[in-house]
Amino acid sequence: MFERLLIANRGEIACRIIRTARRLGLHCIAIYSDPDATAQHVRLADEAYPVGPAAVGESYLNIDAVIKVALASGAEAVHPGYGFLSENADFAEACLAAGLCFVGPPPDTIRLMGDKAAAKRLAAAIHMPLVPGYDGNQREEAFTEAAARIGYPVLLKAAAGGGGRGMRVVRHAEDLGAAIAGARREAKASFGQDTLLLEKYVEHARHVEVQIFGDRFGNVVYLGDRDCSLQRRHQKLIEEAPAPHIPREIREAMAEAGVELAKAAKYLGAGTVEFLYTRDKFYFIEMNTRLQVEHPVTEMITGLDLVEWQLRVAAGEALPVTQEWVHGSGHAVEIRLCAEDPMRDFVPTGGRILHLSWPRDLPGRRIDAGMIEGDIVGTYYDSMLGKLIAWGETRKMALARLRQLIAETHLAGVMTNRDFTRTAIQHPEFVSAEFDTAFFERHAASLI
Ligand code: ADP
Repeated sequence: MFERLLIANRGEIACRIIRTARRLGLHCIAIYSDPDATAQHVRLADEAYPVGPAAVGESYLNIDAVIKVALASGAEAVHPGYGFLSENADFAEACLAAGLCFVGPPPDTIRLMGDKAAAKRLAAAIHMPLVPGYDGNQREEAFTEAAARIGYPVLLKAAAGGGGRGMRVVRHAEDLGAAIAGARREAKASFGQDTLLLEKYVEHARHVEVQIFGDRFGNVVYLGDRDCSLQRRHQKLIEEAPAPHIPREIREAMAEAGVELAKAAKYLGAGTVEFLYTRDKFYFIEMNTRLQVEHPVTEMITGLDLVEWQLRVAAGEALPVTQEWVHGSGHAVEIRLCAEDPMRDFVPTGGRILHLSWPRDLPGRRIDAGMIEGDIVGTYYDSMLGKLIAWGETRKMALARLRQLIAETHLAGVMTNRDFTRTAIQHPEFVSAEFDTAFFERHAASLI
């Protein structure tokens, strides 16, 4: 195992990575942008170095600056967290070229899975079920023809997309042209390229994903599934494990499909294979080649530390257990607490956090936070302040604990979605787990 780890991230995920790295006896090196000089992740690390001004392009996304700090600080390995450079194949390549161990899959795997069309071609080659779609010639007429063939409603997606950006649901042929132009603009601005693909829009689907892990010896295991159907604008807000109310054989088939895909891609490290699930059928949508925001729900039910596994397999160790040893017990649910205003279409809010007290960490409860009282929430970065995660022997017990966690979170100074999430998890459709990805669209008005 290496001894000096650079964490190329900020906020709650940088803090969470430091916690495990510390437990493993690693020396933790943080990076920060100018406004983050006194941030929580900087205080927790053993050493910290500036990488540039507030704008992400000049700091947390600045490959040269990050590599320079890594080399100057004597780091041996780099953990990218999620977001920022975590799925940037050029960054992974730059780490390797600089002689640093990148905690994640090889650059080629990141590149392959980062292109949704290429990932789907690999999935098709191993006979994974896919939503009918089109990813060819980019001329508008070709899309019009494909949409007519597939049948409306259809969904336009950015091939390089992430975070739900660059996506448009199109219900009528006459709206397709404008939607293509809008999706292209958004894709270009967010990802630097505007290749689109088209899929049948699956109504009333749930988002179910499988956590997989691979090592350098060709071993691949899955650590159960998660349901992340509660989304707003295709962005997850509430997640849970295991995915409720899915017949066991289907969950197993989905997990095995995820493992097959990982094997086909010679996958290394933590990865998530995402599916749409509806009417006892599942369809592959994409694979994320990093740690997910929602990984704590998997950790709560399996008792495993996914960051520890990431570090170990990156260092060349074999997976610590085989599939027979992986067991889940109970149920875990997470909510993302974000600085945003539900009354104003959830626009990110900013300002100084005048008062913040997180609930106490007790058995069955977990708080993954990166912010404390006095911090300033800017509009430069992700609006997430932290995550509240509750475990229970049953889903009902987990939800009762989560309600308590939300009630014990006290905040003043910035507007958040706290009360909104509290109402959402008490909604009958959520309580009975009879939901799908359109839950918020249907109920947002009554939840605010
Ligand atoms: P991103 O990489 O931006 O997260 P995904 O392809 O993972 O994009 O899709 C994000 C979300 O959009 C999914 O979780 C799901 O809710 C919805 N979605 C994606 N593809 C479809 C589809 N074909 N039909 C219906 N909903 C979809």
